Amino acid sequence: MFNRVCIIGFGLIGSSLARGIAKHNLAKEIICVDQSRLACDRVLELGLAAKATTHPAEGVKGADLVIIAVPVGAYSAVMAAIGPHLEPRTILTDAGSVKQSVIEAVLPHINNDIRFVPGHPIAGTENSGPDAGFAELFMGRWSILTPLPDTDGDALHDVKTLWESLGAKVEIMDPKRHDLVLGITSHLPHLIAYTVVGTASDLEAHTKDDVIKFSAGGFRDFTRIAASDPVMWRDIFVNNQAAVLEILQRFNEDLTSLQRAIRNGDGQTLEDLFTRTREIRRGVIQAKQEVPPEKK
Ligand code: NAP
Repeated sequence: MFNRVCIIGFGLIGSSLARGIAKHNLAKEIICVDQSRLACDRVLELGLAAKATTHPAEGVKGADLVIIAVPVGAYSAVMAAIGPHLEPRTILTDAGSVKQSVIEAVLPHINNDIRFVPGHPIAGTENSGPDAGFAELFMGRWSILTPLPDTDGDALHDVKTLWESLGAKVEIMDPKRHDLVLGITSHLPHLIAYTVVGTASDLEAHTKDDVIKFSAGGFRDFTRIAASDPVMWRDIFVNNQAAVLEILQRFNEDLTSLQRAIRNGDGQTLEDLFTRTREIRRGVIQAKQEVPPEKK
């Protein structure tokens, strides 16, 4: 599909893309750009790219597809570095978990020659770095593309085909809607997990030991989410401020009404809610979204 693909940020997502692209023969050559020399060396050791550099401008030279997979707070710096060096007609896409702020960070650095297709795979694990990736990460998962009104149709088609070749299903969405939907399905659950686990980490030592010992009671599931990359999640909350605050407002109201039901011994309200939430879980299972992707 492509001659030279340059992936900027070779962590979980970037290295999974590289593995998938290589496995399915979607490019003649993969170039790695990462700010960490250590990550670049590891990428070469693993044989994930033909070349690995810490210099973004050098990495994008001659690339017909450039994929940005760095934390969303690093986009402006990356774009300032690569903007003037992108080849005319290059397809530029990304994997960032927030879309409106990413688009705002990218647009000032590209001209009409560059075909930008913003994207976000709804697939991941709590692990980071080039060793964490695997080619099957995107299998059966959704990948959301949020094209702009003037996005080139052929480029959109090519990026869609790329994701489909990696086993993903593609949904086209408005960037604002993406940020709101992901605010509920991903950002709010992470914030809650960080809060629950944070509360436990503030407990006195002997209680904390018991919390860990008996964590299978539910706490364990929160710790997996709360182990997600701190820089990536810092950037998501800072860059999806409006949507997250709007959803948090609603969440706080719902939490307050549950608090009232508990105080009033209103079991019916609790049971009604827990019955509705069980239905949501059944929907998730029916949509085959319940099993975490497996490294093979
Ligand atoms: P990751 O494993 O932490 O990898 C990110 C890589 O980018 C690291 O090697 C990092 O180097 C490097 N990097 C950071 N700033 C850079 C810069 N300015 N120039 C070049 N390289 C830079 O992160 P990830 O999980 O793959 O996430 C990458 C992107 O995908 C993020 O935008 C995230 O929102 C999105 N995403 C993540 C998931 C998920 O579940 N993890 C799912 C969907 C989308 P250092 O280690 O030196 O910082």
